[in-house]
Amino acid sequence: MTDPNCIFCKIVRGEIPSKKIYDDAEVMAFHDIRPQAPVHLLIIPKMHIATLYDAQPAHQSALGRMLAVAGRLAREAGATDGFRTIINNGRVAHQEVYHVHMHVLGGPDSLGSMLQRHR
Ligand code: 5GP
Ligand code: ZN
Repeated sequence: MTDPNCIFCKIVRGEIPSKKIYDDAEVMAFHDIRPQAPVHLLIIPKMHIATLYDAQPAHQSALGRMLAVAGRLAREAGATDGFRTIINNGRVAHQEVYHVHMHVLGGPDSLGSMLQRHR
């Protein structure tokens, strides 16, 4: 259920401090430590799931909850005119922390295009 060495499991357990903004039985949300936009939140399942490759039917409720709370948390954080969600998985996506997390990015200004066009 939790991985003793995983940094986000440590945040869930309160062993590493975070700027927590939301917490329920299944998910937790906190501010990203290196924000890439005026609003940059991370929403994570409390259960350790390394990547979406590892997602199982038993994870459905927590994964759905991440989406279900994203809009409210984005709005409350100040992203009132749109936001972007990103989940990076594995090497190709440059996943840094191997505990599933959904980035919530927004701010007053446009975020620009999602990806650079593949050449
Ligand atoms: P990834 O590249 O895996 O999708 O994103 C990992 C994110 O986690 C990065 O945006 C990084 O800034 C953030 N992060 C890494 N370690 C910590 C931490 O200890 N606390 C918080 N709040 N964010 C972290
Ligand atoms: Zn974990």
